[in-house]
Amino acid sequence: MRIVLARADRANDVEHVLRGLGLWTRRHSTTVTAAAEHVAFAVTNSSTPVPREAIAAVSGVVALFDADSLHPLVDAMPRTVTLRGRTLGVGAAPALVAGPCSVESEEQIHRLAGAVAARGAVALRGGAWKPRTSPRGFQGHGETALRWLAQAARAHDLAVVTEVISERDVDAAAAVVDMLQVGARTMHSGALLRAVGAAKKPVLLKRAFAATLEEWLLAGEALLLHGAPSVLFCERGVRGPENGMRNVLDVGVIAVLAHAHGLPVLVDPSHAAGRRDVVVPLARAGLAAGACGVVVEVHDRPHEALSDAPQALLPDELSALAFPRP
Ligand code: PEP
Ligand code: MN
Repeated sequence: MRIVLARADRANDVEHVLRGLGLWTRRHSTTVTAAAEHVAFAVTNSSTPVPREAIAAVSGVVALFDADSLHPLVDAMPRTVTLRGRTLGVGAAPALVAGPCSVESEEQIHRLAGAVAARGAVALRGGAWKPRTSPRGFQGHGETALRWLAQAARAHDLAVVTEVISERDVDAAAAVVDMLQVGARTMHSGALLRAVGAAKKPVLLKRAFAATLEEWLLAGEALLLHGAPSVLFCERGVRGPENGMRNVLDVGVIAVLAHAHGLPVLVDPSHAAGRRDVVVPLARAGLAAGACGVVVEVHDRPHEALSDAPQALLPDELSALAFPRP
């Protein structure tokens, strides 16, 4: 983060010019001394890189200096993760992480592991513990599902990803998965982030329903601070106006993470859409904005699915995304 100090009487002009240069600014503070009145602007790392001299030359700018980033570990973390020999992240081929919302039975997860492996997935993702909006919804088969999930993934040479919703389950999950998922509902849980980080596994970090970019980055920072080797951010749609979908896919934040921060970000079109018919176009939009892969829900018998049935793609629909078989 860079701080730009401007003369207070020129602050509006300075801000206007900085924004014109492509800098994303917010007012930080105002300082009044006997000698002068200054306004400080914070220029976030989400900005286009602009040389120092170009900023210093703006009329009305008094000084500029670099301030410590609030998320130095995120800034410095590796941009790729390698799961069972396959690399995901910045610069790697777009990755497909797929599977059912819930692991429902041993047969179901074996069928779907085969189906997604045949269509280019690098990792099988399925929920063993389900964070449901309704307390009466299917809550997952827990550790039994974890065992089925891991066996199915191994049988089809896939990496394994699952979500943990409680600190209690982190050790059991970490013992068998290649990457732990933190979901939208728990992104703000400091205790969970601490426990997941301490498991020292790469983490797929979903964005909470209304989290700001900074809150999301700081959740990533917490994971790294507590021991996670790397974080893949995952945009899954945020709360917005009613739009005929479950959420609003924020393709802008994907572009900012990918292009301004150079961070690995995946797109989850399934939870953004909530409906099968627009999952593929939203996945393409996320990839076009800079996502390094897609996290998508798949079911071969959606009418039997115990959670998120309307948004599950049929296995053949995955082929529209054209992921080459690894
Ligand atoms: C899920 O991945 O199945 C899930 C519950 O997602 P989210 O945390 O994005 O709602
Ligand atoms: Mn789901």
